[in-house]
Amino acid sequence: MALRAVVVGGGIGGVAAAVALARAGIDVEVHEQARQLTEVGAGVSLAPNGLRILDRLGVGDGIRRLGSRYAASQLRLPDGQVVRHEPYQFAMAGQNVGIHRADLLALLAAELPPGTVRTGHRCTGFRQDDASDGASDKGSATVSFADGTTATADVVIGADGIHSVLQGFVVAPAEPVFSGVVAYRGLVPRLAEYPDGAIRMWMGEGRHFLIFPVRAGELLNYVGFVQTDTAVRESWSASGDPAALAAHFAGWDPLIGRVIAAISGPGGSGFQWGMYDRVPLPRWSDGRLTLLGDAAHPMLPHLGQGVNQALEDAVALATLLAASPGADGVPRALTAYEELRRDRTARVQLGSRRQGAGWDSSGSQLVDRRWIYDYDVWAEAVALTR
Ligand code: FAD
Repeated sequence: MALRAVVVGGGIGGVAAAVALARAGIDVEVHEQARQLTEVGAGVSLAPNGLRILDRLGVGDGIRRLGSRYAASQLRLPDGQVVRHEPYQFAMAGQNVGIHRADLLALLAAELPPGTVRTGHRCTGFRQDDASDGASDKGSATVSFADGTTATADVVIGADGIHSVLQGFVVAPAEPVFSGVVAYRGLVPRLAEYPDGAIRMWMGEGRHFLIFPVRAGELLNYVGFVQTDTAVRESWSASGDPAALAAHFAGWDPLIGRVIAAISGPGGSGFQWGMYDRVPLPRWSDGRLTLLGDAAHPMLPHLGQGVNQALEDAVALATLLAASPGADGVPRALTAYEELRRDRTARVQLGSRRQGAGWDSSGSQLVDRRWIYDYDVWAEAVALTR
């Protein structure tokens, strides 16, 4: 009989995991708290390590259609002066892709067997028993939801984001860590004066500004990162004030001013996002429960890896579970998953903190990303199954 998996959380991580699990022959359900699958109105940058996986999950053509492959990648000082850097110290022209988050989620969701996603299901509890504790003939794990319903499976995957409820069933509850940075982010329509296909980052003391194209170049994604003394909510519903953003970047390259001016125009959008992460967790799994994506390793976005690492998790987990000899092998497969993923994601979490500080000091420390981009998680996971 096929293994049964329940994924809690229908963000990019949870849906990607469900696609990978279904392709590996595992029966999977996704339970999402929202009334429908939705994503933030913003872009995400896909790196070679993530794009490799998206090809494997069957959405490579969609990414090529809806994404924007970067034709040029530039670092600049506030006045627009170009900063020389190696390609692997930022996004790689020709190899990294910007995409609207909603487009990526929709592409992945379209790969799921019909009926996989159950919306309006907010997870509130978890319990498990195992044959080894004598409590039942066969181990299973059960998730309960706010509406009183439950879902039982051989394995439960907590893909429920940085405020994960399921994380509290693996490690002692702890608050996310505020980085002291707020991001003003959103989308504006393509600007005639912004070069096609370019990703650009301007770096100054205590702030930096990023622009890249999404939706086949029709939209520009922008993020203005600004240091702040007050803790800001980590929420995409808090609207970002374009006047405050303009004041933070007054006197910088006029191109930034034009992007900020477009936020209030037709098709422009903006919101504020407090930047939080966590220190690497000491463990991700307990018995038949494991964590994935931001639930396991929330990171600052300064290496552009949150989604890319969630995609790696998805493929690693599906590969190791598929090789498991039936339901009894699930806890061992989860241990192998965690051992494969924990050190690498911890390095990316800590590297993201370091790179954030580097951007805010005019790029004095640029992280070499080759070890991130060159990694093939599928090959690593398959090697463990032999
Ligand atoms: P989430 O997207 O948080 O999804 C969690 C899902 O679980 C949500 O749908 C939520 O509704 C649901 N949920 C939560 N609790 C429950 C519950 N109790 N029951 C049921 N459902 C629940 N990453 C990149 O790779 N590249 C980038 O360029 C990049 N840029 C970024 C820029 C910024 C400013 C920020 C803030 C982040 C950026 N990231 C980037 C990181 C990336 O956004 C996250 O790492 C990624 O979205 C995490 O996906 P996830 O599915 O694990 O979690």
